[in-house]
Amino acid sequence: MPSYMFDVIIIGSGPAGEGAAMKCSKSGKSVAVVEAFKQIGGNCTHKGTIPSKAMRQPIQNLVELKHNSLLRDELMNVHLHLPHLLKNAESVIRSQVQMRDQFYRRNNVTIINGNAKIINNNEVLVEHPETGSTKTYSAETVIIATGSRPYRPPEVDFNHSRIVDSDTVLLLPTTPQSITIYGAGVIGCEYASIFRGLGCKVNLINTRDKLLSFLDDEIIDALAYHLREQGTIIRHNEEMDSVESLDDGVVIHLKSGKKLKTDYLLWANGRTGNSDNLGLENVNVLMDKRGSISVNEYYQTSTPNIFAVGDVVGPPGLASASYDQGRYAATYICEGKCETNLMHNIPTGIYTSPEISSLGFTERELTDKKIPYEVGHAFFKSLARAQITGNTTGMLKLLFHRENFSILGIHCFGYQASEIIHIGQAIMNQKGDANTIKYFVEATFNYPTMAEAYRVAALNGLNRVF
Ligand SMILES: Cc1cc2nc3c(=O)[nH]c(=O)nc-3n(C[C@H](O)[C@H](O)[C@H](O)COP(=O)(O)OP(=O)(O)OC[C@H]3O[C@@H](n4cnc5c(N)ncnc54)[C@H](O)[C@@H]3O)c2cc1C
Repeated sequence: MPSYMFDVIIIGSGPAGEGAAMKCSKSGKSVAVVEAFKQIGGNCTHKGTIPSKAMRQPIQNLVELKHNSLLRDELMNVHLHLPHLLKNAESVIRSQVQMRDQFYRRNNVTIINGNAKIINNNEVLVEHPETGSTKTYSAETVIIATGSRPYRPPEVDFNHSRIVDSDTVLLLPTTPQSITIYGAGVIGCEYASIFRGLGCKVNLINTRDKLLSFLDDEIIDALAYHLREQGTIIRHNEEMDSVESLDDGVVIHLKSGKKLKTDYLLWANGRTGNSDNLGLENVNVLMDKRGSISVNEYYQTSTPNIFAVGDVVGPPGLASASYDQGRYAATYICEGKCETNLMHNIPTGIYTSPEISSLGFTERELTDKKIPYEVGHAFFKSLARAQITGNTTGMLKLLFHRENFSILGIHCFGYQASEIIHIGQAIMNQKGDANTIKYFVEATFNYPTMAEAYRVAALNGLNRVF
């Protein structure tokens, strides 16, 4: 048996790498994590989830306070500014890095700073970013958790100071007066809400015919309605023809003949897995056409001792799912099996304004599958808690089987949607008869709460069953 420096080397310290590292080290493996960036935490902590959510929160807080009739007049002239929000986000990032650093220390995980390249099945060459010095490390197993980055089409000049992507938007020096966001996926829609919340004029260009088509139609309609109502101009079915960068702004020419001029262009159209420059050509690790690493159900690549987890293996591209994929792969590596299948029923949390969260089948999917379902709605405007907090925009919608009453889908938008979803998830994930919408009419809910929406929606749905 050859001896290696570590049992497991993990490349990347985002949620996927961290999930894998914690499980491996707690299972008694010696673990090293190689991270190219000077701080651990991944793009999740430094460029994606954490900064965007930390920026959004004060905007939401202010909007909520302005809903309060006692404070509305006092706060009318209070405005937030992007540089302040970015500063605030930095402090959250610092706390996250410190906390995660402790996790690694406590679990005796070795952190190696540098750019990793796989040179053969068991060896990884690490180049230090500043000194250029290199060192080779060996391990029995390698886990690739290198994440993704914004896709940058060659015809767009990202060196121009007024063209940014979801990484460089975090470097904007001032609050723009106007911005065009190209790409209306989750990131594009979330940034549309953030910039609109800052009072910017926002154009949201969608290359498709509706927003976030993977969601339930009622939620898609609600999102489009509320973004428009708040002042975002949404243009569907548009495609970029060219981009003209000027000293005072950017003009985007669309194939439909339209042209839009704003202070900045935020390119939010697609992401690319960080699978290049990793030395995958030195090992037999296969990729799909989009550059995502191909893996089996255990996140094992075509080379059995090399695993890949997180954004680098493609959708869903969520921090939540990435962390679990890391843990899941590590469980398989340490125990030879993993009983929980984390691939199914991943909730979606979308931090637009209004917030959206969703789990399970949509009405469209159930209709296509010819599954007999019924719908129960609870509109936030009729919940006492929503009225008290002034957050009356929103709805919880439960889809359930009209014969066995199992919950098939949960769709929510509005205040705390991404928290509210987990109450339903806990019941929906129960096995057999325990997954039943009847739970919500047989349990007593605190009053007034947002959770009470489940009782209201369940009663509403069950009343339709005959
Ligand atoms: C704007 C934005 C908002 C988002 N909001 C949410 C959200 O609200 N909720 C949610 O669940 N998800 C969200 N996401 C998605 C989430 O950030 C990603 O799914 C998650 O970061 C993926 O984790 P990961 O571990 O695969 O990779 P990453 O977090 O991308 O980390 C990968 C790490 O690998 C390192 N690395 C890459 N190549 C090498 C190499 N060769 N050598 C050494 N190190 C290397 C990188 O430096 C990086 O630190 C958001 C993403 C963006 C862009």
